[in-house]
Amino acid sequence: MKKLIALFLCLCLMAGIVPVMAESAASEISPASSGGSDASQPQEQDPILIYCSKSAIDHLGYDNMALLYNLISDDILPQVVSQLTTAFPTFIETDGGKAIGERIGLIVYTSEFPDSLASTSKSLAYVSGFPLGTESYVCMLGVNALTLFEQDPETGTYTFKESERANLENTVIHEMMHAFLNDYIRAGNTDDKTNNYPGWFSEGIASAVENVYTFRYDQYSKIYGYSRENGESAEVCTDDLLKFYKEYSEVYPVEGGPTHVPDIGTSEADGNRISAYTMGYLATLYLSYLAQADNPTDYSSFSAGEFRTGLNTIFSLLHSGHTLDEVINSIGGGMYENTDDFTAKFVKGENGDGTNGEGESVTAEVSLGFCVSYLNYLGEVTIQLQETDPDATANGSILLPLDTAEKSPIQAQAPEGVKENQQYFNIYRDPNIEEENQPYVYSTVDPAIAYQSGGKTHNIPLNEVPTGEGSSQ
Ligand SMILES: [Zn+2]
Repeated sequence: MKKLIALFLCLCLMAGIVPVMAESAASEISPASSGGSDASQPQEQDPILIYCSKSAIDHLGYDNMALLYNLISDDILPQVVSQLTTAFPTFIETDGGKAIGERIGLIVYTSEFPDSLASTSKSLAYVSGFPLGTESYVCMLGVNALTLFEQDPETGTYTFKESERANLENTVIHEMMHAFLNDYIRAGNTDDKTNNYPGWFSEGIASAVENVYTFRYDQYSKIYGYSRENGESAEVCTDDLLKFYKEYSEVYPVEGGPTHVPDIGTSEADGNRISAYTMGYLATLYLSYLAQADNPTDYSSFSAGEFRTGLNTIFSLLHSGHTLDEVINSIGGGMYENTDDFTAKFVKGENGDGTNGEGESVTAEVSLGFCVSYLNYLGEVTIQLQETDPDATANGSILLPLDTAEKSPIQAQAPEGVKENQQYFNIYRDPNIEEENQPYVYSTVDPAIAYQSGGKTHNIPLNEVPTGEGSSQ
């Protein structure tokens, strides 16, 4: 995602496209909707005109964009920040609470009528960040209105689709998880391919807090009964998962569309990113399970709270300077030598048939047992939910109870105090950033804190912390 955006930025600049918010560069804006108006102050600029693309306002209407902007700034983003800092307290309990940025840039746009830096991304939302100038980091959130409004064919007017609200909420949670990780464990989220966390780890974590099982049910549902002649089955057996994981391949019928080859070892390949989300989710939960389980082969019950605790431990270890290689070796009790060894053994085992070792010492691959039990559990939850709602599926987010019928952990309105007390990722327009790089904002996190974390294989010495100087971005 990051590279794609960086590339797009280059294309934009080359094409001479002027960012939409250039006209608002002169005045300093405090976090947009904080505080009331004061008649003695010069009139504060309208946040809708600052944070929404002009073209989106022209086409979808000011009131619609105001509705969407207010939804994001007043209700969704404050709750997302609150939920993620509550679920993973290590984010704010270390470094005096200075390990997570106070601000984030925002553009609300529609890729149907592009006119801004952000506007060719067709995703519902994205987070982007990179070193800029002499600074180590800038970041922003983009939200695309494309699928969120319905146009009346007769009158041409647009109306917000309430049915898309849960999708918007879950996508913002997923993207903001990336923003937290970009700050908290930045050493594994740079442009250094040799030291970056694998895609299955980054996307697995971001998927673990959204409704991934619902959102990707078309893929997960194929695993049930996969190895059996008659297909239909409510249960995953070891053979189903092994066969699916090793043999399934689907090329989506879209030009340049994604392929799904489930093996997480293939998730870095061009065009095969889906395994980073589907199987990456299972791999991440398995590691979270290992990080807190007394007995890693007991899968008699699963709880979202235990997954959160385990993932919080992993974040904390990485942030304090351990590499992902060390963390995986340590929480696996030596079952996996390092990240690559885990990636190779996940589900398949070293023998490719779900086992490790040879002769007398052959052992079952623990991750295979975990995934079979967990998929069976989510399958059972789905069957139970479908007794009352035939379209329901298990959610998959570890921010919710695993058997919930809720579609999202975000409430319709932020509970009292949540927005007022938001300390991290407040929407901001940075007057210190030149027009061509709007709507990015400089991170408030000290690079010494952001880069003290371990990457995949090594730590980054402070004198090698990246800056944008000399970069073509
Ligand atoms: Zn993602």
